[in-house]
Amino acid sequence: MSALTKQARETIKWYGTIAGYTRHYFGDHGWGGDRCGCVDDRCIGFHHDAEDDCQCLPVWLDDYVKAIRGGAQ
Ligand SMILES: [Zn+2]
Repeated sequence: MSALTKQARETIKWYGTIAGYTRHYFGDHGWGGDRCGCVDDRCIGFHHDAEDDCQCLPVWLDDYVKAIRGGAQ
């Protein structure tokens, strides 16, 4: 499906689902962000090195979590 790293997938799954996270930002188009979980497809090598944690991912996840919590109840 996507090219998300194992670390990114595990982080996302703490908060929701990969499918839900992907759909929140990309609708039905599938994952279009970078492997680190950032929705910007040029994050690794631009914002941080491949072996470093993505500092963007928690911010995107926070927005996703707010959306699902606000919408589901
Ligand atoms: Zn990143």
